[in-house]
Amino acid sequence: MAVQTWETHRLEELEPGIVRVTLALPTGPRHVHCYFLRGDDGWTLVDTGLGLMETPWEEILDGLDGPVARIFITHMHPDHVGGAEAAASATGAPVTQGRLDYAQCERVWGSGDWPERIAEWFLHNGVPPAVSEELIESGHVFADFVRFAWNPTLVEPGDELDGWRIVATPGHADGHLSLHRGDVLIAGDTLLTPITPAVGLYPESRPDPLGDYLDTLARLAELAPRASYGGHGLPVTRPAERCAEIAAHHEDRLDRTAAALGPERRSGYDVSHDLFGHDLAPIQRRFAVAETLSHLERLVAAGRAERREDDRGVAYTARFSGGRAPS
Ligand SMILES: [Zn+2]
Repeated sequence: MAVQTWETHRLEELEPGIVRVTLALPTGPRHVHCYFLRGDDGWTLVDTGLGLMETPWEEILDGLDGPVARIFITHMHPDHVGGAEAAASATGAPVTQGRLDYAQCERVWGSGDWPERIAEWFLHNGVPPAVSEELIESGHVFADFVRFAWNPTLVEPGDELDGWRIVATPGHADGHLSLHRGDVLIAGDTLLTPITPAVGLYPESRPDPLGDYLDTLARLAELAPRASYGGHGLPVTRPAERCAEIAAHHEDRLDRTAAALGPERRSGYDVSHDLFGHDLAPIQRRFAVAETLSHLERLVAAGRAERREDDRGVAYTARFSGGRAPS
């Protein structure tokens, strides 16, 4: 797939009162979109990019016809929450974040031991010690890019934010929130095109994030907005269709995950090689294992696989009807 390049720091009005600004990222999709939503008392800024990219907020804000009245964070991933402190000081606006999302944000980015905790958890899921070491190092690098805003105004799904309804859209992150008004959705990383949002299992996360995500897609398809604007890639012009496409992608991957299981114990790390191949950089393996685990846990919840945890760690087997599988 060709990587589309985006012009950064330029304000683009997508439709009346919805302005997009794109910021650069050093990795992954190489860009993230933030949005300004016009309101009676000023603009609402949705998401903030990374913390150490020196976003020229003053220059960007000069292009707006009014002040930023508030900042809203869709979810606690580095490319969305990492620049919150800088955006708050540049705008003077308060930061609003979901209660669950902020709790996870503090646990992950507000504590120095997260890379060690996640590495230990990966070990427990079959990742070899040498690879876990590399994961610790890449985790520390990422933490440096996150400067979230402490003690934001906390909101819950169902609350209103300047005329927008806050909608729970868990899956890509447990506490992910989107904004819905009229027939428009500001979707964060819940609904993207052409890339598909990552849905991974992480320590201390909800037990079945892929189940959460498939429910989210079903609810958004029912909501059937006319347009959905996300954190990466292109605007989604047929959101209900895109929900169905992404759900089909995961159903297919669930079938491939189930096909990788048999009577022998296999860890999430083992199965990630079947799904994502053998040659991955540590940071990619980290996503591959998390993504594989979310699919394995969905299969367990659906009665299509069995989870076995003992002193060797967590592993999975196919589910045999009428009788116990050997361990
Ligand atoms: Zn993102």
